[in-house]
Amino acid sequence: MSAVGILLCAGSSNRMGFDKLNTPLCGKTAIERSADALILGGCDSLVFVVSETSETTVASLPVPVPFTVVQGGAQRTDSVRNGLTAAEGEIAVIHDAARCFVSPAIVRASIDAAQKYGSGVASLPVTDTVIRLGDGEIETLDRSTLFRMQTPQTFRMGQIKAAYAEGGSATDDATLYAKKFGAPHLILGSEDNRKLTTAADWAWALTRLAPPPAYGIGFDTHRLVEGRKLFLGGVEIPFEKGLLGHSDADVLLHAIMDAILGAMKLGDIGKLFPDTDPQYAGISSRVLLHKVNDLVQKWDMIVSHVDATVICQRPKLAPYREEIERTIAEDLGISPDAVSVKATTTEGMNDEGRGLCISAQAIASVRHR
Ligand code: MG
Repeated sequence: MSAVGILLCAGSSNRMGFDKLNTPLCGKTAIERSADALILGGCDSLVFVVSETSETTVASLPVPVPFTVVQGGAQRTDSVRNGLTAAEGEIAVIHDAARCFVSPAIVRASIDAAQKYGSGVASLPVTDTVIRLGDGEIETLDRSTLFRMQTPQTFRMGQIKAAYAEGGSATDDATLYAKKFGAPHLILGSEDNRKLTTAADWAWALTRLAPPPAYGIGFDTHRLVEGRKLFLGGVEIPFEKGLLGHSDADVLLHAIMDAILGAMKLGDIGKLFPDTDPQYAGISSRVLLHKVNDLVQKWDMIVSHVDATVICQRPKLAPYREEIERTIAEDLGISPDAVSVKATTTEGMNDEGRGLCISAQAIASVRHR
C-alpha cells in the first residue's frame, strides 16, 4: 500500500521564540530531519503543510520522493485537513515536524499497524503518578490506562479523511479518528521522539546531536634518584628523592599530556617537546601542559575529563591528591570535578614497588566546545 507522509510544519514556534522548524540544528532543520525519517520509514510521497513564511524554503528542499506544499490553517486540525485534501495514497502518515528525532523504525511500525489494524499511533505509557486536582481534593488516575500521544499518527486514508470530514477540532488525529471509528491501535513511541517546544527542548536536541567525545591514553615512567625535587601533577611533594628527566620529570603530567594529545591525534610529548631541545631543560611540566591545552583550544576543543593513576610505593600521595587535582584542573581551565587522580602501590613488587621509579597512566577525553 502506498503511504503518504503529511508533515505539519505550520506551527508558530511561540514558546521557542524563534523559527524552530527552519533553523538548522547541527546542519539540518527539523523539517529536513522529519522528512528524512518519514521517507526512510516507508513514505512514498510527502505533503508539507507550511506557514506562509516557510513556503519557499520548503519548496526548494532536495526531497528524493514526489512532494507537494500546501498552506496550513489557524489550528492544527485545519492544517491536517488541508494536508489530507492534497494527499493521495492508501495510508496517511501524519507527523509533527517538531518531532524531528522520530526514528524510521517508528514510522515503519505505524505504517505496518495501519495496514494491519487500520491505524498505528505512536504513544508512550505514563510512568509517573498522575493526579487530577479538584476542589481541595485529588483524584489519583489509573496510569495503566493513560498514554502520552506522539506522532506519527497513521491511518487508512479513507477513514482519516472521513473522520476529519465530520468537522470538529482536536490536538491530535487519534481523537477525531476515535470519535468515528473507536480507539486507534497504539504503537510504542520513544522518549527521543520529543516535540521541540521550549528552549530546554532545543538545548536537549543540541546535546543529543553533539559528536561523542574522543579519548586518549597515556603512560610514563621516570627513575627515582637522589638530589632531585619530586613533582607530581604540578605539585612539589616533600620526599628524599625526585624523578630524573630532561624537564622536571613530572611523570603524572606527562601521562596526562600524552592522553590529551592521543585524544586529539596530535602525537605525544616526545614529538612536541623533544628532550634534545635545550629550551625544555628543567622546565616545569605545568608550562608544557599549558602548551598542550593551548593546542586543544586552537582546535576549538576542550578537555572534558581526565582520570589518572600514579603507581608509586613511596611517598604516600593521599594527602596531596586534592591539591594535585585542583592544580591540573586549573591548568586545563576545567572544573576539579572533571579531574580524578588516584594512587596505587605494587605491594613491593616490580621497579615501582622497589622504589626505583614512579609510573603513571592516564585517560583523557576531549570534546568540541
Ligand atoms: Mg616523561
